[in-house]
Amino acid sequence: MAAIPDSPVETNTAVCGFESTFVDELGVLTVAWQGAEVPDPTLLVLNEQLATSLGSDAATLRSDDGVAVLSGAAAPAESQPVAMAYAGHQFGGYAPLLGDGRALLLGELVDTDGRRVDLHLKGSGPTPFSRGGDGFAVVGPMLREYLVSEAMSALGIPTTRALSVVATGRAVHRNGVEPGAVLARVAASHLRVGTFELAVRQGEILSTLADYAIARHYPELTELPAEGEGNRYLAFLEAVVEVQASLVARWMLTGFVHGVMNTDNTTISGETIDYGPCAFLDAYDPAAVFSSIDQSGRYAFGNQPTVLKWNLARFAEALLPLLDSDPNAAIPAATAILGTFDEHYENHYSHGMAAKLGLNGDDVDRALVDELLTLMAEHAADWTATFRALADELRGHATPLDHLVPREDIGPWLTRWRGAVEGREHDTADAMDRVNPLYIPRNHRVDEALRAATDGDLAPFQKLLEVVTHPFERRDEWAEYTTPAPREFNDTFRTFCGT
Ligand code: AMP
Ligand code: MG
Repeated sequence: MAAIPDSPVETNTAVCGFESTFVDELGVLTVAWQGAEVPDPTLLVLNEQLATSLGSDAATLRSDDGVAVLSGAAAPAESQPVAMAYAGHQFGGYAPLLGDGRALLLGELVDTDGRRVDLHLKGSGPTPFSRGGDGFAVVGPMLREYLVSEAMSALGIPTTRALSVVATGRAVHRNGVEPGAVLARVAASHLRVGTFELAVRQGEILSTLADYAIARHYPELTELPAEGEGNRYLAFLEAVVEVQASLVARWMLTGFVHGVMNTDNTTISGETIDYGPCAFLDAYDPAAVFSSIDQSGRYAFGNQPTVLKWNLARFAEALLPLLDSDPNAAIPAATAILGTFDEHYENHYSHGMAAKLGLNGDDVDRALVDELLTLMAEHAADWTATFRALADELRGHATPLDHLVPREDIGPWLTRWRGAVEGREHDTADAMDRVNPLYIPRNHRVDEALRAATDGDLAPFQKLLEVVTHPFERRDEWAEYTTPAPREFNDTFRTFCGT
């Protein structure tokens, strides 16, 4: 592997308190590295609340020293920045060495709730893992990750968080020249299925990695034995299967399409990570794909639970040597745990759908849910608007639903559903509004905001950020953010990965 660049990077104390448990225990999975020079840094957006939760403050982070750390131009004093190595299955094909090709782990901080988190930069320059890439990122996609991850957090979906985006003043070549940018993000960790896929090839390190992940994310399992029936690695696999089943159910309930569910983008913590070509559904369509690189529809909206289970099978394979010393016993043990994915997923999804429809979660009429989905697909009904329109229907306002699905088609379904909530219509409508968002980052709005930001006007981005981070709070002046894109927009809309 290449050595760290010769020129010493500046250090400063804008962010303090870094720890480096990952590097201390698993340094072999990292390369000490530093960010590229930043010609002309400008802080575009800063998450002040998140900064405070990290024991920092907005004024310090807005200072020259703060921006130098957030852009990768300076390293925080006493930190040990590294590029992390990992492998992964990308679109089903195995890549033996990926790693942070344009990112740096600055280190770990313990937040004000006592939670250990990673502070990580994306777009900070080439590393030994850059392969053919330039190591940089550009303003549009970094602001997209900022906006969508903060929207996901406001929706209550486990996710990495965005701390800042700094424009670097570097001209980056994509389809033409684009302004360079660095995103600073905070994550429960950057351990992924791909980290285990790399570690399994390095023998000894696998159990160290698994024990590290258990201690960091599933500390309740640390006391379990290392071997034999009920060992902690079996319990670890079970725990990751459960959190990921829950996560993908949340995506499916919210109409979120991740777009690039490679195993290197599947976390051990259960957080959503890497907002590349992601998008939210407008019209409900299980086959919806927005990513320009997903030609086969592998990561289509409706495929996400299946793909996630496939990724977990890769995780289970990597853990096999730990699950049982007898390979003939390890495989059935792993298979049995993977087999629980469907039940966990179904349980989370049904409960979530019940809440969206104001039904009792313990006794969900699955046929009722499925028939609604069929009607929505037939009429290309807007995912987000339909659930709000159903609540309005219970309050006696028929117009919103009439705009989505013809009454003659949805009539029999409505009669059955209304029967299930009879006598508690108003309470049900209010409960539905508490779980069904009004505002999501609609693709045309995101596109418009990122284009303006790339041209130097941040106002549409700031406004959209304000709206989507208050997804349930109806405000009259935000009415335009509830409307879907014009059909012509969606027919041609594509998002681009890694740009
Ligand atoms: P992602 O799709 O962002 O999760 O990235 C997949 C892999 O490609 C990771 O190993 C990234 O570090 C790498 N990568 C993406 N974009 C670039 C780039 N511009 N330069 C170098 N590596 C990159
Ligand atoms: Mg990634």
